[in-house]
Amino acid sequence: MADDLDERFARALHHASHGARANEALTAPLVLTSVYRLAGEPAGAHQYGRWSNPTWSALEEALAALEDAEVVVFPSGMAAVAAVYYALLRAGDRVLLPADGYYTTRALAEQFLGPLAVTVATVPTAQLAAADLDGARLVWIETPSNPGLDLADIAGVAARAHAAGAIVVADNTTLTPLGQQPLDLGADLVVCSDTKAVNGHSDVLFGHVATRDRALAARLRDWRKMAGAIPGPFETWLVLRGLETLEVRFERMCATAAVLAERLAAHPRVRDVRYPGLPSHPAHALAKRQMRRFGSLIGVTLADRHAAEALIDGCRFVRAATSFGGVHTAAERRARWGDAVPEGFVRLSVGCEPAEVLWRDLQTALDRL
Ligand SMILES: *Cc1c(COP(=O)(O)O)cnc(C)c1O
Repeated sequence: MADDLDERFARALHHASHGARANEALTAPLVLTSVYRLAGEPAGAHQYGRWSNPTWSALEEALAALEDAEVVVFPSGMAAVAAVYYALLRAGDRVLLPADGYYTTRALAEQFLGPLAVTVATVPTAQLAAADLDGARLVWIETPSNPGLDLADIAGVAARAHAAGAIVVADNTTLTPLGQQPLDLGADLVVCSDTKAVNGHSDVLFGHVATRDRALAARLRDWRKMAGAIPGPFETWLVLRGLETLEVRFERMCATAAVLAERLAAHPRVRDVRYPGLPSHPAHALAKRQMRRFGSLIGVTLADRHAAEALIDGCRFVRAATSFGGVHTAAERRARWGDAVPEGFVRLSVGCEPAEVLWRDLQTALDRL
């Protein structure tokens, strides 16, 4: 039986066509304009290009159906993160960030919020459930964390954070709205880098924030309107197009990742495999409870840096690139960015290639190590 989230995705797909009048195009319009006709006293939906755009609205409405929330789109995941920071924080506030989450989320806070008298504290994702949340204005969750794939209990942390008077933000990039619904679990805001699986074609940077709190959504819209952190209509249109196939792509990617994770774990050259869907993951029980899919990212630890680079170089169908969530499988050695992972740790982003072809490719390269 189709569950609630399947229904939400179907609604997102059909959103634009349901409003169409006879003979109107069933695809969303790509509106490239900075100006709208605005005579006399300013009034009406569209007045200036920095304030609103019909292509943004089309994507926001589709994502809103999927998130079951209000959505505000941004030109990148980091623009979405920054909007949350600057729209919600004031001097004297304390923010709790994951120590092992996306690096730039932390760097932005430390370099630019610190000097504005916001206190930035960090805690490892796996220890967030036991962290001291007293006095926090914002509690940031990234689960599974990128790149270590540790988990935090969203419902548990949200309940404790709310009791302490904090706002809870979940960065849901690694799972997309189809893999996990943090708002259903109690988060106040979701941030997503749509650069990854939501667009899925590695040709656009994009982001969105979702919330069921109208006042928060209005504040984020004001921030976007005034700061000018606005997406281009063409990029927006491409994400709308990418979103249409998110469900088939993500299902395929997650199913292949599950197969590969199990086989990689059994290969003699592999020291460790981190994947929330494997019973060996330290939070597998939590993964089964809170995640609808286990994701398309696998952490693979090999003997050392040399073995990791040789695996990536030795594959025909694995792109050497940062980022993840695209239709092409990609991999990188994360220690090259200074992440707190072993030198031989490879983050494998599983794409849409046929699973057996990918496995033969990986196995051949591993056997040669
Ligand atoms: C990529 C990423 C971001 C930043 O997104 P951009 O679109 O690159 O600005 C934020 N959070 C996570 C978890 C990411 O993977």
